[in-house]
Amino acid sequence: MKKQSPSSMAPDRPLLTVVLALLVLAGMVLLAVRPSGEDEGRSPEEPPRSAADEEEAPPPAVGDPDGLTVVDPAHVAGAGEAELSYDGAIPASVTYPVIPNAEPLSDFLERELGAEVRAFEAASPGAVSFEAEWSLTAAHGGLVGVRMTRVETDSEGPREGYTTYWYDTATAEHHPSTALIAGQRELERLNDLVRETAVTADGPPGAVDTAVLHPISSLYDSMGFNPAGDLVVEFDAGQVAPASAGRAYAVVDAPTAGELLSDLGARVRDAATVGVERFEIAAPPLADKDGQREGRPPGHLAAVDEGVDCSDPDTRCVALTYDDGPGGRTPELLDVLAEYDARATFFVTGYPVMEHPHTVRRAYAEGHEIANHTLDHPDLARMSPDAVRANLETVQALVYRETGYTMDLMRPPYGSTNETVAEVTADMGLAQILWSVDTNDWRDRKTPVVSSRAVEGASDGAIILMHDIHGTTIDATRSIVSELDARGYTMVTVSQLLGSTTPGEVYTTGTPDTPEGEPEETGENV
Ligand code: ZN
Repeated sequence: MKKQSPSSMAPDRPLLTVVLALLVLAGMVLLAVRPSGEDEGRSPEEPPRSAADEEEAPPPAVGDPDGLTVVDPAHVAGAGEAELSYDGAIPASVTYPVIPNAEPLSDFLERELGAEVRAFEAASPGAVSFEAEWSLTAAHGGLVGVRMTRVETDSEGPREGYTTYWYDTATAEHHPSTALIAGQRELERLNDLVRETAVTADGPPGAVDTAVLHPISSLYDSMGFNPAGDLVVEFDAGQVAPASAGRAYAVVDAPTAGELLSDLGARVRDAATVGVERFEIAAPPLADKDGQREGRPPGHLAAVDEGVDCSDPDTRCVALTYDDGPGGRTPELLDVLAEYDARATFFVTGYPVMEHPHTVRRAYAEGHEIANHTLDHPDLARMSPDAVRANLETVQALVYRETGYTMDLMRPPYGSTNETVAEVTADMGLAQILWSVDTNDWRDRKTPVVSSRAVEGASDGAIILMHDIHGTTIDATRSIVSELDARGYTMVTVSQLLGSTTPGEVYTTGTPDTPEGEPEETGENV
């Protein structure tokens, strides 16, 4: 409605002013009593439908058997859209739905999509543009499913990707797609099924690289149901198959999928398998939890194993840390760690992450901690605060996009830090992790030497520094891990060893009774 400007009313004609005001008021009342949604293409003579009508004779759901159910937004009362305002360096054209009485959904999407564009820009040196548009895949039973289709364009061209979010109109909770699955074990089973059945839209049979599929949130971020109630899992172009193969997806039949679903997943399936003629959110959410959902959905893995307590005097914990990778042979290291059920921390550097993204994904999926070791290994103590921040943010974004994990530890290259680095890392939520044992494996490329320094240097609470980009270090893994295991050590992540850490603070050891000291002076290539 157009607002009256004060100058349009003549102050010397009070009667006209009153009449005008009454007319405006009457107009507002008329607008208010008009059923919302009438202006969404419904003819005025058609009687408004109640929810009960919908229950009695649900029309069939609409959509492709290989895709998610499609709901026409014109059948959702008052549905409109908003455009994201983005002030970064690349053009972003992103729309998201706005539905009356579902404000928390729009607020969440605005935040989430803004963060997505920022992460794309930060992680991609060749970022050109970001576009995204929304569609609805369910609107029934108090649930709304929003599927975002985005096109990220960088120096290698455009790539299409998908994310599907689920919103409960009564509680205002929003859920990622992995919340449709009952738990991590069920997500692992789903991952096994997807490995057997995934195909691509445009690629040859077998285009999907099953080895890069892991049960983590960044991969399983677009799930829903086709009109028959089969679970549809879809992956971004280039994520698990060559980008030229297009959308990769798997369809898990309804009975098999049914065993894997959470309560929410079963509700979503019921909502996505009926056609929608009219959906209206009658009232604002009962409990606005401001987007908070309780518990961690499947696919979001902790860097801490709740079954291990390093503060227990009978548990001797040691943290193996690997810097500068991932390298081409890091998967061999992961094989050995898995064999001994050992955990490690990988302080990854940006360009190797771009080169070996699947290795980062795998390390995360197998319970190891991923931590930030800068984009290109500079001496942070010689840089401006903005440069330090930009450098670290790129790696935060890279790892987040690959795994869905937000790192909270970093290691300054060469162990070189100062007040500026402390301030920036404090602001970014990153604790600074140095080490208590230096194997000098970058200098002494001899497997027995690396192995004996790691093993003999180990003590309860030790943080052992190595580099997984050196073959001699990879070759030393088995003897290090088997010997530490034989000596009764539990190999844990740094976060497990230290417990909670304070961003910006420097840590060199997890030994509780030893005052923190400067690490032993070392050479260049930490
Ligand atoms: Zn390093």
